Amino acid sequence: MNVSSDLQHRQFTSDNISGIVPEAMNALIQANSGHALPYGSDPWVAELNREIQRVFDTQCSTFPVFNGTGANALALAAISRSHHSVMAHQSAHIAVDEVNAPGLMGGGLRIETIAGENGLISPSALRHRIGQARGIHSSKPGVLSLTQANELGLCYRPEQIAELSAIAREHDMAVHMDGARFANAVAALGVTPADITWRAGVDVLVLGGTKLGLPFGELVIFFNEALARDFEWKRKQAGQLASKMRFLAAPWLGVLKEDCWLHYAAQCNAKAQEIAVRAAAIPDIQLAVPQQTNAVFLQLNDAQQTAISERGWILINLTEESGVRILCSWDITQRDIDAFISDLEQL
Ligand SMILES: *Cc1c(COP(=O)(O)O)cnc(C)c1O
Repeated sequence: MNVSSDLQHRQFTSDNISGIVPEAMNALIQANSGHALPYGSDPWVAELNREIQRVFDTQCSTFPVFNGTGANALALAAISRSHHSVMAHQSAHIAVDEVNAPGLMGGGLRIETIAGENGLISPSALRHRIGQARGIHSSKPGVLSLTQANELGLCYRPEQIAELSAIAREHDMAVHMDGARFANAVAALGVTPADITWRAGVDVLVLGGTKLGLPFGELVIFFNEALARDFEWKRKQAGQLASKMRFLAAPWLGVLKEDCWLHYAAQCNAKAQEIAVRAAAIPDIQLAVPQQTNAVFLQLNDAQQTAISERGWILINLTEESGVRILCSWDITQRDIDAFISDLEQL
């Protein structure tokens, strides 16, 4: 066997281009011994349930699945009915990057989008959007979905989540959180995982592990356990039930220990902050979005984009306004940062 990475150059394209953090890899290797009962009846999954309850400081039910799209679609389908709509920001992954998997899993569930600065939903915009529903002629607002940290790397503070959740509650809507980069948000805000979830009114969290440094395995966590009813069947039906589930659970146990996941997230955020500060100090380069977590958005003109691509950097443009996206994964080194900044300086 002779296969190796095809990228000539290390990249800031996304936080899923990196490999596996050693703590997760070691846990995976340790789990690879002996026989264990399949489909989640193994000791690793049981321990993961306890660990998540410790980390979130509450009673809750945890379900490992393979990926984020499946986790979101299943979580949303579990807390809604087919005639409902999900209110989400117009840049939300569930709205633009999931081929409407929530609509498929939700049997007609509809995503309705809300505009808002920096990828964030404001209370007034949420009220306005809910008010636009036309009684029995349009989908009934059933779920509010928040992305934390959002697609632009920005976070809702605990009181903002609580205010939005309260509006959802007034309208009998459930609250979903897409936490593909939840750890980065916890680290950036300096809060506890509980502060920005159940304490602020979140019913179900999709906790992302892949972008953090796991091989695979996102968690659907129900704080409102009544909503988890029959979830195991949904997960199986959607092809998201791992038979050797210990291998989804073990890497999580590796990174939850001693808050290792949050240390990695804080490091990624700090690297992004360094890039943001150094890039913004270069004449002709501005940040398109304030930096808060592990993402930096740079405003580069066409000539600058061509020149930086010619130097081997793969660029991602999420939207016209947000500019070029730089994401720091866990294994970004000082050398990578210096090389990128030096190329930017020479544009
Ligand atoms: C990456 C990501 C996901 C999950 O994506 P998968 O590729 O399906 O695992 C979900 N939400 C957000 C905001 C993401 O960035």
